[in-house]
Amino acid sequence: MNTYSTELIHKALNHFFGYDEFRHSQLAIIQSVLKGEDALAIMPTGGGKSICYQLPAVIMPGIAVVVSPLIALMKDQVDALTANGIRAAFLNSSQSAEEQQQVVKSAQSGELKLLYIAPERIPANSSLFFDFLRRLNPSLFAIDEAHCISSWGHDFRPEYLKLSVLKKEFPAVPVIALTASADALTQKDIATRLDLQNYKLYLSSFNRPNIKYQILPKKNTISSIIDYIKQHRNDNGIIYALSRASTEEIAGKLYENGINAAYYHAGMDATERSRVQEAFQKDVYKVIVATIAFGMGIDKSNVRYVIHHDVSKNIEGYYQETGRAGRDGLPSDAILYYSQGDIMKLRKFAQIEDNPQQSAISLRKLKLMQEYCENEGCRRQFLMNYFGESFPAYCGNCDYCLSSLEEKDATIDAQKLLSAILRTGERYGAHYVVDVLRGSAAEKINPQHKELKTYGIGKDRKKEEWLWILQQLVNNGYVTKSDDEHARLAVSEKGWKIIKGEAQLRLVMKKPVIVQQVQYDTEYDIRLYEKLKDIRKDMADKDNVPAYAIVADSSLIELATYMPVTFEELKQISGFGDYKTSRYGARFLAAIGGHLKSFNIESRMNLKKNKIVKKEKSVKPAAGSTMEVSLNMLKEGMSIVEIAEERGLAASTIESHLAAFVAAGELEVTKLVTENKLKAILAAAKMTGQHTATKPIRDILGDDYSYGEIRFVLEHLKRQMQ
Ligand code: ADP
Ligand code: ZN
Repeated sequence: MNTYSTELIHKALNHFFGYDEFRHSQLAIIQSVLKGEDALAIMPTGGGKSICYQLPAVIMPGIAVVVSPLIALMKDQVDALTANGIRAAFLNSSQSAEEQQQVVKSAQSGELKLLYIAPERIPANSSLFFDFLRRLNPSLFAIDEAHCISSWGHDFRPEYLKLSVLKKEFPAVPVIALTASADALTQKDIATRLDLQNYKLYLSSFNRPNIKYQILPKKNTISSIIDYIKQHRNDNGIIYALSRASTEEIAGKLYENGINAAYYHAGMDATERSRVQEAFQKDVYKVIVATIAFGMGIDKSNVRYVIHHDVSKNIEGYYQETGRAGRDGLPSDAILYYSQGDIMKLRKFAQIEDNPQQSAISLRKLKLMQEYCENEGCRRQFLMNYFGESFPAYCGNCDYCLSSLEEKDATIDAQKLLSAILRTGERYGAHYVVDVLRGSAAEKINPQHKELKTYGIGKDRKKEEWLWILQQLVNNGYVTKSDDEHARLAVSEKGWKIIKGEAQLRLVMKKPVIVQQVQYDTEYDIRLYEKLKDIRKDMADKDNVPAYAIVADSSLIELATYMPVTFEELKQISGFGDYKTSRYGARFLAAIGGHLKSFNIESRMNLKKNKIVKKEKSVKPAAGSTMEVSLNMLKEGMSIVEIAEERGLAASTIESHLAAFVAAGELEVTKLVTENKLKAILAAAKMTGQHTATKPIRDILGDDYSYGEIRFVLEHLKRQMQ
């Protein structure tokens, strides 16, 4: 068996792919494949799975056989490899018999380093297939989207089962299974069905720090989407919708508003689908409105936003779809429009006839999706916890973390709502109750209800605000909701206390989200960037490949930042391996040279050395940020109340600033909470059996403990448990 040095592996990464560093566990996975071991690699979408088998493929003698169900993706992968000077081809049903014959011939003659095969190309008589493989002298087998072999996975494909004897037929050839599907059951099932031997499991972090998660209420959704797209005219994006009809409808509305959008769903014929997909890859369409059928085959690295017009069925799907944004590592948005009505709809779909077990699983997953949307806390933390990773309560790049919160007394509002529920006889749902409260003239309002004292007393607030407060009442058990589709509201015993003035309701209200512009870590010359983009588009059209297969947007940004002028300098730019440098370099360099001359500026390659920015594990608020101002004032001996007064901010805002430092391990919890209270809160947290929600703990401890204090301790606790 050959051994390969780490140095050689690094050199190959740089030479063939033009990257400086490995991501996640890429290096470990590659080393294990090179040693001939089987491996199961779980990495999020965009994490960089391909290199895990492509790099061993170029180093090892023989040909790597890659099984992948994604026909559209295959062509992209092969194009991208070819653009890197690596010989690769694919076999799938999109080709003519002659084309396939040609590929078989070049594979057998040993010209290729990688051969991609679609599972449906594996003949029913698999011994023929294995004979063919034997003639190829395979170096390794890579099973992409490996969850397709498991009926536990979300995309079971029976053809994949033909692979289960692969290991018996080729015991000496390493098998690497790759997937972005995280759950443990599926993982085990993959290993069993592929018969992996003494395999190593590689789990990479699922965090995608460059994606900003945002959830908006589902109202005026289309015009909100149109506004967003207009503000991001030059960006590519995907809009997911639940039904085929609504993709067409939304695309139509976008089109009427001057946005060049296309739709995509499984009801279209195959040629039309691949036409749309290809046009999107090539930036002909900037926006695609699609059902979730779209994207399995999308390997576009510069998708800047993913918008969910409807709520997803489960977090796995949602996360996979949002993961199609920002594969190039640049700041990207994931926006979801949330309504409880969507949850109701999905609840119906989740019931599978004659399969109570499957229905229960689907309903549970949907419930978690709902919790994610309604959760009050960092979105990323919720997602990471869902995938079994711990994460601090502050990520700094989700709507929750970017907005500040304030706690307000909402007792009067609550009394108004509760009274409206009672006086309409506890027989109506949220919308009706709120309409009565706001004095709606609609016909559906019972004339008797128009005579009520509560009719119209809530005109001062918008409907959405009332619905939101009502939701908080439901979440906190003041109001109950019937389980049927009517979702009738009723006042609980706890709710009566508010009506009688025996209890108060304090709500954490969200201030409007302040959208924080995410900065690139370097400044780039936008004029040059646009010029380079044009050049890339021209090259792409000539080679008939998508633009990002030439180089990624992030590489162009680097070019426009540092402006290399020699081939040697160009090689230092991420994405420029030896092959790309020699094939495409001259034109880029000429453009940069011309740009420098005409604007009389100098190359900034001298700054490049300092460029590598190491990502920090625990997210610590930036120096000079508003959060740090609060911290410094605390260090000067001011109390939270004093800081809040001085800064004109709510005390709860100051608390959330400080909590972020506790989470990042920068501030001792004992600086904020007395020893005794610390003990009491820890004990209460233990009793509630959780360490995310402050409310249950406060319910145990009572009013002497502030939410802020509880939050500090929970952050401290979570940090200790990491
Ligand atoms: P996955 O298959 O896991 O979804 P890909 O293999 O398509 O992800 O990789 C996503 C993107 O990241 C690609 O554009 C790829 O070229 C890039 N990439 C992968 N590994 C690295 C690395 N070590 N450094 C920089 N970019 C990388
Ligand atoms: Zn966050």
